Order: sequence, then structure tokens, then C-alpha cells
Amino acid sequence: MPNDRRKTARRSLALLLAAAGCCAALAGCGAAPDPAAPPSDKAPGSRGPSASRTAPSTPAPASTAPENRSLAGRTVVVDPGHNPGNFQHSKEINQKVNIGTNRKECDTTGTSTEAGYAEASFTLDVSHRLRDLLVARGAKVVLTHDADRPWGPCVDERARIGNAARPDAVVSVHADGSAVGNRGFHVILPARVREGAADTAKIVGPSRELGERIADRFARATGTAPSNYLGGGTGLDVRDDLGGLNLSTVPKVFVECGNMRDPKDAKLLTSAAWRQKAAQGIAEGIATYLEG
Ligand code: ZN
Repeated sequence: MPNDRRKTARRSLALLLAAAGCCAALAGCGAAPDPAAPPSDKAPGSRGPSASRTAPSTPAPASTAPENRSLAGRTVVVDPGHNPGNFQHSKEINQKVNIGTNRKECDTTGTSTEAGYAEASFTLDVSHRLRDLLVARGAKVVLTHDADRPWGPCVDERARIGNAARPDAVVSVHADGSAVGNRGFHVILPARVREGAADTAKIVGPSRELGERIADRFARATGTAPSNYLGGGTGLDVRDDLGGLNLSTVPKVFVECGNMRDPKDAKLLTSAAWRQKAAQGIAEGIATYLEG
């Protein structure tokens, strides 16, 4: 059939490119689309959440070691904190939304390093790396946004996107903006909340398990210590004032990868090699949680 011939021709081209070391042109190498695959559920220009397909259709070369596909059939939502466009949309992001325990700003600009590296850029970068690592393990990954909208989403919409994807886990990626000398990462867990639209009774336990796994693997992968300014050295903090957690109906945590306002932490956060380690730690934490 014409379609089959076209697929065969594309596969041959793909293998040729692989042999030439032309990674960026291939599906499964970063975010390059696979021309032989059916269209994804995300229309071009869509402002909704972006889904990554679970598997490249191009067969791996015979010499490649067996892949770890332990997350096949699993769905993970990755929520890049803030949005690089938020600072130009203060009116929109300052509108109040219901977070169950309170009414709070739709979203915030996030923090930045002293030199001006924005948290919103950091969260997108780590989220992309995390997505690629999870997809490589077979997971379906949904991003709550990909800077493909001018601002937001609002925190309540971030929770709704996470819930609607019916994922096995949700991770919101952030970096903190605390005082100089405050260093290290921490993972924020949902508190037990039952108020208004918020009811976290079912997610408190599994979210803690997810958070403990991520804290453990994050420390190992990055070689950095848990926060020295909260969490009592555990790298875990529980909060009831975050709409993204209060309104979640699926296991969810926030990862604060470090303190952007501290020069020593900032040096790590601005290193692409360190961000890859951070993503690796988060991915391994999610994998160990899902693998039980
Ligand atoms: Zn943040």
C-alpha cells in the first residue's frame, strides 16, 4: 500500500541518518517529530497541554543495548513552574483564583538568579530534559504548558490539566527564591486539606511516597544536599497553600531544585550539565515510585 511504502522509505532514511550520527533529525532523539507517526492529539498552535508520544516508530539499530521501557503504559504530567511571559502579563496573572483553602494569584513570575536567569526558563529546561528521560523509558508525558501561550496557566488550571490526563504521577518543577546562604533542594508535599474544591485525602499518602523517592534520587543524582533552611534536613516540606497541590486528585509534588538567590546554588542551577542531573534524579524518583 502507498502508506506502507512511504513508511518504509522514511524508515530507510531514518536508519541512514542514524548511521550518519544525525540524531536531531530522528524521532526519539529530543523532541523531533516522527514523520511516519500518526498525528498527535495536539493541534498545531494549540494552547492546551502538550502530549509527547510514548514510542518512536523507528526501530533501534541492532547494536543498541536493550532499552529500559519500565514506564510503558504509564502517564506522567510535568508542570514547568511559571511562564517566561508572565512578567509581561501582571494583570492576568494577578487575578485571584480559588485554591480551596484561600483565593490566590493565578500565577506568579517566579524568581531569578542575581545575573537574571529566570526561574521560568529553568523550569522549562529541566521539564524538557525530564520529559525526554521519561519518554525514553516508555512513559506518555503531558506538559501543562510549553511556553506556547503568553502567560500561565493559572495554578487551578495546572491542577485541572494534571487531573484530566489521568496520570500516575504529576511533578511541578521549580527553583526557590530564598535568602543568600539558604541552600539545597526540597520537595513539597500536599497537606491534608478538605475545604471548598480541595480534598487531598486520597493523594496525601501516595504523594509522600512519590516525594520521598524523588528526594532520595535527586540527592544521589546531583550530589547536592537537602535544604538547609526548611524540612529539618529531610528535603521534604508539607504545604496547604498551593493550589496546584490542593486541587490535585492524583499524586503530585513540587520539586524546588535549589535556591536561585544563593550564588553557590545559582552556579549549579545555571549549569546545563547539572540540570541534566537534576532531571535524571527526578526521573529516577518517579520511576522507582511507579515501579513499586
Ligand atoms: Zn516557582
